[in-house]
Amino acid sequence: MRPIRPRRAEIIAVGSELLTPFRVDTNSLWLTERLNALGIEVVVKMIVGDDESLLERLVREALTRSEVIVMTGGLGPTEDDVTRKALSRALSRPLVLDEQVLERIRARFARRGLAMPKINERQALVLEGAVVLENRHGTAPGMFVDHEGRALVVLPGPPTEMQAMFESEVVPLLEPLAGGVKIRRRTLRVAGLSESAVDQAIAPIYTQYANPQTTILATTGGIEIHLTASGVTEEEIEARLDELSDRIEQALGARVFTTRGESLEEVIGRLALTKGYTIAVAESVTGGLIAKRLTDVPGSSQYFRGGITAYSDEAKCALLGVPADMLATHGAVSAEVAEAMARRVKESLGATVGVAVTGVAGPGGGTSEKPVGLVFIGLADDVHVESHRHWFPGDRARIRELAAQAALALLYERLL
Ligand code: ATP
Repeated sequence: MRPIRPRRAEIIAVGSELLTPFRVDTNSLWLTERLNALGIEVVVKMIVGDDESLLERLVREALTRSEVIVMTGGLGPTEDDVTRKALSRALSRPLVLDEQVLERIRARFARRGLAMPKINERQALVLEGAVVLENRHGTAPGMFVDHEGRALVVLPGPPTEMQAMFESEVVPLLEPLAGGVKIRRRTLRVAGLSESAVDQAIAPIYTQYANPQTTILATTGGIEIHLTASGVTEEEIEARLDELSDRIEQALGARVFTTRGESLEEVIGRLALTKGYTIAVAESVTGGLIAKRLTDVPGSSQYFRGGITAYSDEAKCALLGVPADMLATHGAVSAEVAEAMARRVKESLGATVGVAVTGVAGPGGGTSEKPVGLVFIGLADDVHVESHRHWFPGDRARIRELAAQAALALLYERLL
């Protein structure tokens, strides 16, 4: 039987700028996705500055752990581009000048009417025995080294160069190494439950499975449950994913709004269309976020009537007709006002469902009775009006995002 353990990979992103607050290592995210699709599991990611001896040590260590090592960056022509020299030392292989590469770099400069600066010669130095990977979008070539049964892939740092090189040059070399094992991922999205509530409900199920592996992630679009399965055939992997995904859906019911990667607003749109609902929103604390998300969906004009951002008390009176004495008695952040806003916006825009949000996003403005994070969400349709009280954690941006998400979750439940 063939082993079903996927090959293990490590990614090393090289560049001191990636250790500052100004640049993020996005290459490794992209590479992880692509390696997984090839059936190669990423087990370690590292970011290292332009430090030759540290890099040398990290490469040596990685070679003792994993079958595939992918490096990006540090292939430029200047002294601080240390990847080549560090690798030469780690693998005990000399760097040799590749005349073909040198010619290509010269030609690249010549096409722009320039003479190649002397320092760019360095970029034609390759590890002895390496397969040279052509860079169609830049000067630095990449390398593929088969080192004592380990595959070492060396790619340039700029994402467009790295990605193009990976697709055209690296994929054909890595495919045979994957040993026929594939990895597939499925994402279930959940509305209306917190991360810990989701975990509590499904941990007894997913802990029974080593394959698929389960990860729970809180995002601004809801809680995501990521299932990652490996296997030799697509059918085998799909069957594994189906089994666990079905059991999770049974446990969480309709709170799982998609297993196909749709957003909550897309699912709402589909439901509104099939059931013939139209939607209107009245927003205070979210300042238009809900309307923005609903209108992110192409074709939303078929069911989304519109939204009113009524931020001040005056606007709540003037635009929505919320009674001034209600605002004075209960305050703008109250169940009564949330319900009134939902009812009024539904009526004034002629929708079948109205949703409203009012709350305290902070950082100022909170009181002991109405603390920062307190949000009321109202919903009105032709037969009833309801409201829900939430207390969201986090800073201003987070509170607003969570409020918009909770309002959409309530709308989703109503449309069901
Ligand atoms: P070049 O020959 O263009 O200098 P290089 O391989 O030396 O290529 P770097 O100098 O390390 O690449 O990086 C060039 C640019 O690519 C960086 O300024 C950065 O914007 C981007 N970059 C490098 N590494 C990453 C990474 N891991 N994720 C995202 N962007 C990166």
